Order: sequence, then structure tokens, then C-alpha cells
Amino acid sequence: MKKTIRDYDFNGKTALVRVDFNVPVKDGVVTGDDRIVKALPTINYLLDNGAKVVLMSHLGRPKGKYNKDMSLEVVAKKTSELLGKDVKFIPSKEVVDDDVIKEVKSLKEGEVALLENLRFNPGEEKNDDDFAKKLSSLGDIFVNDAFGTAHRAHASNVGVAKFLPSAAGLLIEKEIKYFDEALENPKRPFVAILGGSKVSDKIGVIENLLDKVDSLVIVGAMANTFLKSKGLEVGKSLVEDDKLDLARSIMVSAIDKSVELILPEDVVVAKKIVEGADSRTVELDDVDEDEMILDIGPQTVEKIKDVLKGANTVILNGPCGVFEIEEFSCGTMELAKALAEIDATVIVGGGDSVSAVEKAGVAEKLTHISTGGGASLEMLEGKILPGIDAIEEGENA
Ligand code: ADP
Ligand code: MG
Repeated sequence: MKKTIRDYDFNGKTALVRVDFNVPVKDGVVTGDDRIVKALPTINYLLDNGAKVVLMSHLGRPKGKYNKDMSLEVVAKKTSELLGKDVKFIPSKEVVDDDVIKEVKSLKEGEVALLENLRFNPGEEKNDDDFAKKLSSLGDIFVNDAFGTAHRAHASNVGVAKFLPSAAGLLIEKEIKYFDEALENPKRPFVAILGGSKVSDKIGVIENLLDKVDSLVIVGAMANTFLKSKGLEVGKSLVEDDKLDLARSIMVSAIDKSVELILPEDVVVAKKIVEGADSRTVELDDVDEDEMILDIGPQTVEKIKDVLKGANTVILNGPCGVFEIEEFSCGTMELAKALAEIDATVIVGGGDSVSAVEKAGVAEKLTHISTGGGASLEMLEGKILPGIDAIEEGENA
């Protein structure tokens, strides 16, 4: 067990908190505040416990150079609004300098500050010790609550932990809890639904989950490679021809491990991936050479729903089809609704999967919606995430 913020006394201390405020900004306006909202419980906890709070985050990819379009100033304003309390923006093109240190030292209990975009300093992504040391001079206790960057080893999440006592924030704590429970001690039956675009993106996840799940559902474009490897016509569908053998070996492996493997039984096909395209729902042996498989059909949806009925743990990673387009969204939407109705722990990881369950309007009804696309993928692959690894172990470890 990693130490969490509940393991420390923050009274009169300065908490240096890595958050993920990498939010969408358009024309100087924050257009999506979800990531800020998700960090509020940790900030409020620290304030309620007498801390001074220094927030730090990256925004976009400034590649180690100052870029005024990627300044966090607008994010500080938005955070003030959402927190209902002034968030003092402390800018510096190098992120930390003597003036920044002075301003941070002058903060009073209950005050909150936000530093400039960490990635303006080339030391951040290089996990440079000097930069990490400078950052660490700004606080007494380091709190990591940026799950979205936990799969990266940077100065603000890995480096600083060398120089300060460390703790997981409430958001990271929740992410670890749900992923660990599902991957290490799942309530069975345990079902994984893996979709999305490429087998090559998800191979690590498939291999890790094959040893853990009772049923594995493969949908999305990824399924096309499996269908083709079984000798079926997939027309012009997205397929990875260099992964046909891999697909076959996964199917054999599933049999060896007594994992029920479910592939599409019927599909929605069209000649073009556009809104309003002519589409038809067909059996697997009825796909024409000039067509693409773009969604699962209703028979497949029913089959998956049957598997879900008995499930106690479900992981969804990857949509069933091109859900961005109405004509090919039905499978993903139906499945999302089914997930909201079952009495199981349901975890959703993957940027597009999260958008899909939000689009279906069921996100609130699911157990855990992961805040990190890349980080959740690495969790599902069974990897150790450097940003989490760097947090101190608690006594009961
Ligand atoms: P996630 O972000 O949830 O991990 P991925 O990034 O792996 O998911 O895949 C999402 C993308 O896969 C979506 O943009 C979707 O349009 C695409 N996709 C799903 N099914 C198909 C398909 N049959 N053909 C082409 N693209 C597909
Ligand atoms: Mg994606």
C-alpha cells in the first residue's frame, strides 16, 4: 500500500501537489474542466487540514521552452472559479526561480498557488535531478495526484519524490484501488471487453488479462484481425495483416487457459466511414470485398449482454466500433447502457472508451472511469507505473 494524504499531518505544512491540469484550452479559454474538477477533493482535503497548497502541472507539449499559448494562467483562473477560492498564479519562464521561491514562502495556511507549465523547463521531461530538487524546495510533503502522467518518469512526479516525503492524492489512490482490485483479486466472473483500433496497441493488455479473466470479448477494429485469421472475408476493414499469427496464438492460448473468448457474430458494414453512410448489418460470411466492418451487430450485442449478466467485475477498454459516427455507434452505446444496468464493478479505461460512455450518458452509473488514457493502458498491461512506484510505501506494505 502506498502512503496517502491521510498518512500525514499537513497542519502548517506546504503540500507540493502534482495535478493533471492538462486541459483543453481554445483561444485562451479552458473548454473542458473535468481534470480540474477531479483534483478538487485532494486540494480541499489539504486545505481542510491546514496546509498551504502549491499546485504544479504540465499543459500541452511546449518541449522544454516557454510558450505563452501554453501558460497555465487561464487554468489558475478556472481553478479559482471551481474551487471557490483564489488560486494565486506564480509565473516564471523557468517554472522555479528565486522570486517563485519567495512568493511560495510567503503563502499562508489555507492559500493555494499554481506554478507555471512544468514543461517550459527542459528538466521536467528529462527527470533532471537539479530541477526536481528546485521543485522540492517549494514544499514539505509531495503529493502526486496526476494519474494521467503516472506512466511517465518526470521531475515533478518521480524526481521530487527523492527529495520529499511523498503521498498519493485521493484521485491516484482511487485509480490504484480499482485497478489493483480488479487485476489482483477480482470478484468473479471477471469479464474484459477489449475494442478500439489496433491489436498492436492492446496486445500487452490482452496477454496480461488472459491470465486473469474468465471471459474476454474482442470487438472494434481489433476483432477484424481475429476474424481474418479465421479465414473470414473482412473486405476493406482496418486489419493488421502482420498480426494474423498473433491473433491465432491468442485464440489457442484462450483455450489453454479456459478463457471464454467472444468475437463478433454479426457486424455493421459500409463502404464509407462518414455520417449518413449506407450501412447494412450482416452475418460474418456476408461481408463484401469493398466493405468495411465498422460496428458489431445486434446479435453480438445480445451475446455480450448475456456474458455480462453473470459478471461481477468488468473492464472496458476500447469501443466496439466507430462510435464517433451515429451509423456505427449502436454497438458501443448499447453495451455502455448494459454496463450501467449490471450489478458489477465496472472499470473503464482508455480515452475513447471514456468519451463513449460519456456520450452514452452512463458514466456516473459506472464504478470507475479512469482519468488516464496511457496510464490506464499500462495498468491493464500489468506494468509498474513510475509515477506510482515513486510514492513511498506505507507501514502496512
Ligand atoms: P481507447 O482510447 O478507448 O483505448 P482506442 O484508441 O484503442 O480506444 O480506439 C478507439 C478508436 O477505434 C475510435 O476512434 C474508433 O473509431 C476506432 N474503431 C473502433 N472500431 C473500429 C472499426 N471497426 N474500424 C475502424 N475504427 C474503429
Ligand atoms: Mg484512444
